[in-house]
Amino acid sequence: MVINRQSGYHGQTATTFCGADPEMAGHDGGDSGPLSFFKAQHRAFAETLKTRQGSGGLVDGLLLQAWDSFDRNVDIQAEGQPPLACHKGCATCCTLRVTATAPEVLMIDRYVRWSDGRFKSIGIDLPARIADADAQTRGLDEAQRVALRLRCPYIQNGICLIYQVRPLACRGHASYDVHACVEAAAGRAGEIPYSEPHRVVRSLVQNALQSSLRDAGLAFRLYELNHAVCIALRNEDCCREWLSGTDVFAPAAVTEVAADEMARVYDAIRAS
Ligand code: SF4
Repeated sequence: MVINRQSGYHGQTATTFCGADPEMAGHDGGDSGPLSFFKAQHRAFAETLKTRQGSGGLVDGLLLQAWDSFDRNVDIQAEGQPPLACHKGCATCCTLRVTATAPEVLMIDRYVRWSDGRFKSIGIDLPARIADADAQTRGLDEAQRVALRLRCPYIQNGICLIYQVRPLACRGHASYDVHACVEAAAGRAGEIPYSEPHRVVRSLVQNALQSSLRDAGLAFRLYELNHAVCIALRNEDCCREWLSGTDVFAPAAVTEVAADEMARVYDAIRAS
């Protein structure tokens, strides 16, 4: 699948931060703190939205920007940290609920459609797998999902079939201890030593993206991935409808944090 690398990507995502306080709600930390980083990210996404809104390349432009910014900043923030336990072939954590923004859902929908013939030729019916996973997990909370231990539908022999376009939620989930991951996945209590740089950078980039989508009048909530992709796979006009401002994935919206509460936080950060 071709991802349009010319679309709306202006390079502002070289902005980095090195604040000591990793929480968005904390102090700014000066010009290089997390909140300054959030604001710079927001401006960069807003610029892409301004130049590309309504065009088919908008989704590509936003996501290339998000992925690039995530990679660059994790590299910087993780300097001096222990090596990650995550490696190709390990899918221990891929039973958890995955959430995603609308552009991420639309990109995965496109990837699944594009790869469908190739996967079917080797016996993998990805749309059917996604529908089956959705049917088994819809409405379950995190604890019920862990108890069910159902693998993500995109896993094949420990490899993520959509690795190239996987959501920020997956990119930001990284551990220093595979044994702790295995114990937790088996339902045994225990703390998993997650990588804070991955978690924090993912949160900042994702929230800046959501905030800029909101300002552009686009649906900006998070959605349960399997349910949202099922909606997209059933509706060829999904992208056009989302670009026109419709919350096309609303039935899959994650409801733990209300949209108006998120909007209040975004406004407070940008006014700070
Ligand atoms: S999308 Fe890929 S990385 Fe994310 S949970 Fe599923 S298999 Fe794992």
